[in-house]
Amino acid sequence: MEAEIDEVVEKVVRGEIQLHELDRVLSGNLSMVVRRLAVEKLTGTKLPSIGSTIIDYEEVKNRNAENVIGGTQLPLGVIGPLKVRGKWANGDFYVPLATTEGALIASVNRGAKAVTASDGVRVRILGDGMARAPVFKLDSVDEVDGFLSWIDANRAKIKEVAESTTSFGRLSSLETFVLGNNVWVRIVMETGDAMGMNMVTLAAEKVCELVQREYPAAKCVALSGNVCSDKKQSAINSLFGRGKTVVAEALIREEVLSSLLKTDAASVSDLNLRKNLLGSARAGSSQFNAHFANVIAALFIATGQDVAQVVESSMGFTWTEVRGRDLYISVTLPSLEVGTVGGGTRLPTQREALSIMGVQGSGNPPGSNAKKFAEIAAATVLAGELNLLSALSAGELGKAHRRLGRNFQS
Ligand code: NAP
Repeated sequence: MEAEIDEVVEKVVRGEIQLHELDRVLSGNLSMVVRRLAVEKLTGTKLPSIGSTIIDYEEVKNRNAENVIGGTQLPLGVIGPLKVRGKWANGDFYVPLATTEGALIASVNRGAKAVTASDGVRVRILGDGMARAPVFKLDSVDEVDGFLSWIDANRAKIKEVAESTTSFGRLSSLETFVLGNNVWVRIVMETGDAMGMNMVTLAAEKVCELVQREYPAAKCVALSGNVCSDKKQSAINSLFGRGKTVVAEALIREEVLSSLLKTDAASVSDLNLRKNLLGSARAGSSQFNAHFANVIAALFIATGQDVAQVVESSMGFTWTEVRGRDLYISVTLPSLEVGTVGGGTRLPTQREALSIMGVQGSGNPPGSNAKKFAEIAAATVLAGELNLLSALSAGELGKAHRRLGRNFQS
């Protein structure tokens, strides 16, 4: 057996077998091992850590990744208890965060302690729908006009066709956008507990087939025409929402601000105005927050979300007001794309991380787990914003990073 493995490794090294072809030649996890051994030889490196993985390639193959040689591990921390008072998430939660950024987990944890001591975070989901926008080309503006009328007259049929592809997806809106002789049809679906990108793409494909049959003058150029907008900075997701549109708020009492966060409401609010609003405007940024991406990225990695969607999921605004001597703080995330089924959520450590929050898998009713998760995510983002703004206003940021992010031995 060992001799056989060595022989296949040598064949890969000599280029007689391509890395991806190993899946056909060898069964199960053996192809993953042989691929790693071949890469070790080809690059003159040893990869024992990458090879020490619990990932079962049979489970991942044709679902999550190709050409796999092992796994990557990151430290996983937890913050909490975080009191969340949402419609779907109600109670005290521990939230898993995977990161290599020293001080991040400690920072969010202190924010969580402060909001929990102040009656928790109130959260509401104000919009819910995953979007895919195929682009069609037509010959003239006359035909564009005709196509827009056809879409308007056939909304019910389009909905039926889109929903025929899924038992969970429900078409919630259909918007058209025109540029010259090009038309984008932005199809938006509620997708239950799934983040929904595959679901709405499969539905969009059926809609394109319907158009080709019944309105052939409109040629579908691509299923994804970038008005969706997936994994890219855009105004459309901020204005129309994509995934969940969530608002979280908390009132931080004066005694919590002074004893725990070493600051006061007026200082934090003034800082928010000058940093998150004025500073972002001056920089030409459309992100009016301090560090949503820190929390979203760590939470997405921990729970098997599509990590590239950190781009739009961490868009948003932090707003503060001084109320008496207390601090009102809110975060608005217009495009939070999360799921508890599908994609990477099925991997072992990711499933466990979702379980910590009680949101793993399909909810009852369907969609309730993803909504609960979105509320917890927004509350965690708020905890992160509160602590960073407080630390900055108290002049503590550098000290924390020196202590927790620069403690290298070498
Ligand atoms: P998915 O795993 O493709 O679809 C979810 C599956 O779970 C469906 O088969 C659905 O049933 C089923 N399901 C079971 N219980 C459910 C529940 N309670 N709620 C919702 N669905 C339930 O996941 P997805 O969220 O649609 O897509 C996520 C994946 O898309 C990620 O891997 C991401 O990386 C990838 N992605 C794709 C594109 C693209 O253009 N295709 C773009 C970006 C990312 P039904 O079959 O009845 O719907």
